[in-house]
Amino acid sequence: MRRLMAYLNPLNRLGVKRYSPIFPFLTTLLFGILSEIYTVVILKDPDSVGMYAIFLFLGIIVYFSFRNGILGGVAATTVTIGYYAYIIVSRNAPHQQKIVQWETTAVLATFYMLLAFVIGWLKQRIDLLIESEADERRRLQAIVEQLPVGVVITDNKGIVIQANRQLETIMGMKFPRGFIAGKNLPLHTAHKGKEITAAQAPLAAALSTGIAVVGKEFMLKRKDGREVYIRISASAIHNKEGKIIAAASIIHDITQQKENEKRKDDFVNMASHELKTPITSIRLYLDSLILKMKNASDKNAEKTLQSIRYQTERLQELVSDLLDVSRLQTGKLSFTKENFHINELVKETIEQLQATAKHHSLKLTAPPAIRVYADKFRIYQVVTNLITNAIKYSPGGTAITVRIRKQKNNAVISITDQGIGIAKDQHAKIFQRLYQVVGSKEKTFPGLGMGLYISKEILKRHGGRIWVESEIGKGSTFFFRLPLAKKKQEG
Ligand code: ADP
Repeated sequence: MRRLMAYLNPLNRLGVKRYSPIFPFLTTLLFGILSEIYTVVILKDPDSVGMYAIFLFLGIIVYFSFRNGILGGVAATTVTIGYYAYIIVSRNAPHQQKIVQWETTAVLATFYMLLAFVIGWLKQRIDLLIESEADERRRLQAIVEQLPVGVVITDNKGIVIQANRQLETIMGMKFPRGFIAGKNLPLHTAHKGKEITAAQAPLAAALSTGIAVVGKEFMLKRKDGREVYIRISASAIHNKEGKIIAAASIIHDITQQKENEKRKDDFVNMASHELKTPITSIRLYLDSLILKMKNASDKNAEKTLQSIRYQTERLQELVSDLLDVSRLQTGKLSFTKENFHINELVKETIEQLQATAKHHSLKLTAPPAIRVYADKFRIYQVVTNLITNAIKYSPGGTAITVRIRKQKNNAVISITDQGIGIAKDQHAKIFQRLYQVVGSKEKTFPGLGMGLYISKEILKRHGGRIWVESEIGKGSTFFFRLPLAKKKQEG
C-alpha cells in the first residue's frame, strides 16, 4: 500500500525526468469506462453524466500534467475529449442540443490542452532545476571525496554528513551514520599525549564558539594501535543571516613530519650533551693553567689564555641554549619554583654584566623589594639574555635602563636600550625559534636566534609573558611579566 501511495504521489517524481504517456492514457481511459458503467449500468440513466464529468476529468488532467509532464497531460486530455465525444454521439439528444454540446466540448478541449501544456511545462522546468542542483552537489561531493587531505563535514549539531576517503585512511576507521564529530575519538594533545574532551575537539569547539580553529596538532590513538599525529583546522559555516548551519574540518597526517622533527631534536640533544663534556674539561684545564701562568707572571700568555677562556664560555652558553631549545621541544625542561626577591636577582645580574660591558652603562630603577614566584635560575637566564641583547644590539655604547614595577598581581621588568631598534613587522617574529632579523646591518651580530625563544617559553611556563616596544633606529624596550610571590608563603 505504501509503495502504491509513493508511486502515485506526484511529489516523489519531482526531479525525475520520465515523461511516459502510457500510465496517464490507460488510467484516464479506465475512469471513462467506470463513469460509463456507473451511469449506464448502475444508475440506468445515461443522461446523468454531466457536471461531475467536467470536474473529475479536469482533476485527472491537472494530476497527470504535474505527475508526467506535458505528454502525460496531453494523453489524459486526448482520452477525456474522446470520452466527451463518445457521450455526445451515444446519447440521443435533439439536434439543437447536440450542437451546443459539441461547442462546449471544443471550448473545454482548448482549455484542457492549454492547462496540460502550462502545468506540464512548469513541472519539466522544476525537474531541470533540481537536476542541475543535484549535479552540482554530486560534483562537489566527488571533489571532496578525492582530495588528498582528510575532510569532514557536519551539520550544525556536529553529526557527520560527509567524511572523505583520505580521512578514513588517516583515522583507520569508517564514520558510521549519525557519528558525532569529536565524540568517541581517542584524540590526545600532541605535546603531552593527554586525552582531550569531546568539547575540546576542533569541530565541536568551532561549532560552539563560531571561531575557527587553525592548524592545531593532535595525536590519535587508532584502533589498530597506531599513533598518528594530525593537524586539524575546523571552522563553522554560517548562512547569510549569520546562523551556523554546518561545520567543516581539514585533517593532515603529520606523523612523518613529527618523526623527522623528533629525530632532529634527539640529534641536537645528543650533540649538545656530547659537546658539553669536552668544553667543561677545557675550561677546567684553562683555569688551572691561568693560575699557573699568574704565578709565572707571563702577562701575554695569561691574556691569550683569558681570551680562550672567554671564547670557551661563549661556546658553553651556546651549547646550553641548544640543549634548552631541544628540552623545550620535547617538553623536558623542568622548573623549580620558589619565592624570591626579583630586585636582588636583577641587581646581581646587572653588576655581573657591567663588569664585562665597558662601553655601556647599566642602570636599575626599582621600588623596594618585589618578590616573585618563579624558577630563579631560569629568570636569571631571561634577564641575562635581555640585557646581553641590549648590549649586543646597541653597538654605539649607550645607556641601558632596567626598570621593575608592580602591576596588579605581577612584577613587570623592562630593559630599554638606545640601539638599532626593531621594525614593527618583526616584533612577533623575533620570539620564534631560531629567528633572526636579517638585514645588512644586523647580520654583523653573532647569535643563533635562540635567546628570545627560550625566554618566551620560560615565561609562558610561569604564567607570564614577554613583549617588545621598538622602532627601528630608536632603540628597544623589552618587557616581561611574572606573577608575584604567593601570599601564603610570604612574610
Ligand atoms: P640572537 O640575539 O642570538 O640572534 P635572540 O633570540 O636573542 O637571538 O634575538 C632574536 C633577534 O631579535 C636578534 O637576531 C635580533 O635581530 C633581534 N633583537 C633581539 N634583541 C634586540 C635588541 N635589544 N635590539 C634590536 N634587535 C634585537
